[in-house]
Amino acid sequence: MDNCIFCRIVRGEIPSKKVYEDELVFAFHDIQPQRPTHILVIPKRHIASLAQVTPEDEPVLGRMLSVAQQLARDNGSADGFRAIINTGRVGGQEVAHLHMHIVGGPDPVGPMLKKI
Ligand code: 5GP
Ligand code: ZN
Repeated sequence: MDNCIFCRIVRGEIPSKKVYEDELVFAFHDIQPQRPTHILVIPKRHIASLAQVTPEDEPVLGRMLSVAQQLARDNGSADGFRAIINTGRVGGQEVAHLHMHIVGGPDPVGPMLKKI
């Protein structure tokens, strides 16, 4: 996806504050953090949203979840965190490349449905 902003971040064409990378996923600080900890975890391969995933994507989806605890701990949210995947128009997704927000910090993040 030539013009996808998150594909461009993965390729290094747009700078980001990277916190983690492996063969399947890439993680970086959100440019407008909503909490002291606000990391985005994305598949390296372009997937538009959670509404487009197939069983073939299960390895990368599993990896996104399994790295979350370490990323939260290493980035200021040792006592829990919230993982959020906004999906499509109803879900308030603004960037059309699947991404999981990891939000947290020293204090509780607040009401479940507050917009992140
Ligand atoms: P969404 O609303 O799609 O779930 O969240 C998109 C997120 O991507 C927002 O929190 C926004 O701040 C973040 N974002 C958008 N563009 C960039 C960018 O160029 N760099 C980084 N690091 N984050 C971005
Ligand atoms: Zn993309």
